[in-house]
Amino acid sequence: MSNAYDPNNIFARILRGELPCTKVYEDDDTIAFMDIMPQSDGHTLVVTKEPAAEIFDLSEAAAGAAIRTTQRVARAVRAAFSPDGISIGQFNGAAAGQTVPHVHFHIVPRYADRALRGHGTDIQDPAVLAEHAGRIIAALREA
Ligand code: 5GP
Repeated sequence: MSNAYDPNNIFARILRGELPCTKVYEDDDTIAFMDIMPQSDGHTLVVTKEPAAEIFDLSEAAAGAAIRTTQRVARAVRAAFSPDGISIGQFNGAAAGQTVPHVHFHIVPRYADRALRGHGTDIQDPAVLAEHAGRIIAALREA
């Protein structure tokens, strides 16, 4: 293990249902929900159910499931928001910008006419997050 896993990190608590999230997708291995402090409209997180702080700690099966869900949800984000591009990112360690020590992938729509908001800075109105999630869920249904 490259990093001791903290079972009380915020995503572990969301996975246990102790904290809410604005969910767009879930299967046996992954869950995807809106980032509470989105860097752009449609910023979505894909979180593994397997407990692991960094990508190095994940089983190959969980890593495969994570990238499959990331591709699936990113396609839906693209259909829902029609951004000019999409950045997909995953951070390992505080020095790399990781703030929640549970493996997750960021799906960040990029709009040519808008700068990204800060990383983990401004909490979005829950009603806006719910509206954005609804669009992604609808796109997933149509996929
Ligand atoms: P990291 O910096 O670890 O790569 O990304 C963590 C992300 O989780 C940040 O973009 C941050 O905005 C988001 N985040 C932090 N706390 C919460 C939370 O309680 N709920 C949700 N949905 N996102 C969170």
